[in-house]
Amino acid sequence: MPAEVREMCGVFGIFGHDKAAMLTKLGLFALQHRGQESAGITSSDGTRLYTHKGMGLVSEVFDGSTEATLIGESAIGHVRYSTTGSSNITNAQPLVVRYARGELAIAHNGNLVNAPTLRRSLEADGSIFQTTMDTEVVAHLIAKEGKLDFVSALQASLQRVRGAYALLFLSLRCLVAVRDPFGIRPLSLGKLGEAWVVASETCAFDAVGAEFVRDVLPGEAIVFGPTGMSAIQLLPRNPARLCSFEYIYFARPDSDLDGINVHSARKRMGRALARDYPVDADLVVGVPDSSISAASGFAEEAGIPYEMGLVKNKYVGRTFIQPEQRLRDASVRLKLNPLRRVVDGKRVVLVDDSIVRGTTMKRIVCLLREAGAREVHVRVSSPPYKYSCYYGIDTSSQSELVAALMSVEDIRRAVNADSLCYLSESALASSIGREPGQLCTACFSGGYPVPVADGEGKYALE
Ligand code: SF4
Repeated sequence: MPAEVREMCGVFGIFGHDKAAMLTKLGLFALQHRGQESAGITSSDGTRLYTHKGMGLVSEVFDGSTEATLIGESAIGHVRYSTTGSSNITNAQPLVVRYARGELAIAHNGNLVNAPTLRRSLEADGSIFQTTMDTEVVAHLIAKEGKLDFVSALQASLQRVRGAYALLFLSLRCLVAVRDPFGIRPLSLGKLGEAWVVASETCAFDAVGAEFVRDVLPGEAIVFGPTGMSAIQLLPRNPARLCSFEYIYFARPDSDLDGINVHSARKRMGRALARDYPVDADLVVGVPDSSISAASGFAEEAGIPYEMGLVKNKYVGRTFIQPEQRLRDASVRLKLNPLRRVVDGKRVVLVDDSIVRGTTMKRIVCLLREAGAREVHVRVSSPPYKYSCYYGIDTSSQSELVAALMSVEDIRRAVNADSLCYLSESALASSIGREPGQLCTACFSGGYPVPVADGEGKYALE
């Protein structure tokens, strides 16, 4: 899938290593799938912060010499897809601010649902904002608590914020990592020799040679400073509700999220689909890359050969990262090509991880039929995507979500499939290895763990 769901962001931080910026760049490379619009790193040598950020891929923003100017033994980095605020350099992160206690850099993955209300109230009190990012609201809240020590100011500020976040803060001498009270966005802690690392996904630890230590708990802050590392339950700890879409689609298959490997979870989703919705077919094809794991699980369970029926042009990039519809449509056409010799005359099970607007699926079914597929049976390794996400995933408004507008049978007709079945919510949870109430599934069920009355959309702050 999905040319239709755009990512959010990835964060990486390291404390206590003499190659902090260089390792942060490697970590960001591993997290590149989480955002391709901009990348940035801020480092600290204890006397000042050094920042470089720009539009584009990590390899475009950091050319090999740039990171050498980011000196110091601690650093935070960020790759961005804009879920709030438009796509421009002003909104690239880390966001660096100067307040009564000195310089502070912030990197944020997620979305603060009451940011528009907080911003209006801060502006009414005279605050002046430089960006349209919700992250800047947190900076202003912290600055207003300038009389408190940093951790107390952070606590007082985040008590006013509602949303889903993995936040990294870098001051001259400390690095602080915080995960939202429901643990909706992932954040893991690792160790590299004597240095500490934090990252949105554990694949970034592998990239720098770090060892996984544990996941940051919901509402927990991990503080790294001159006296070492300490963990503080900064906010009330709710039962974890990690985003189920991380397992379905966003995260890399080689990452473990809250102790569960993403590839293994996807395989179990495919197996469950094969058990619940069997079909007579000649081969199973997964939409590359994110649906390959689920498709191989389906094939194994059904005893139907898995085949590479679609070839992805790796050089087009992840099409949904393109923020404009016009660009997205063009890149879907360039991105996938069916393998005629494989699918010609065959009954194909096409496994995809989700259908959001439906335009990509229609196009893929059409490609397979043009290549000679006799039947195309679509199996989706997630439930129907009916509700907008307000927690950092940009799927546009509910009026664009095909499952909110049509029945499954109408969608089947619209995408021209011979059959169409979705994974149930209970099968999704058991495939991941959680009870249904232990995940965020709001985009399938409408049950939002954090109220979204203020969820005014991506450009609400502009
Ligand atoms: S609403 Fe959906 S995409 Fe958004 S955090 Fe929840 S599960 Fe993830």
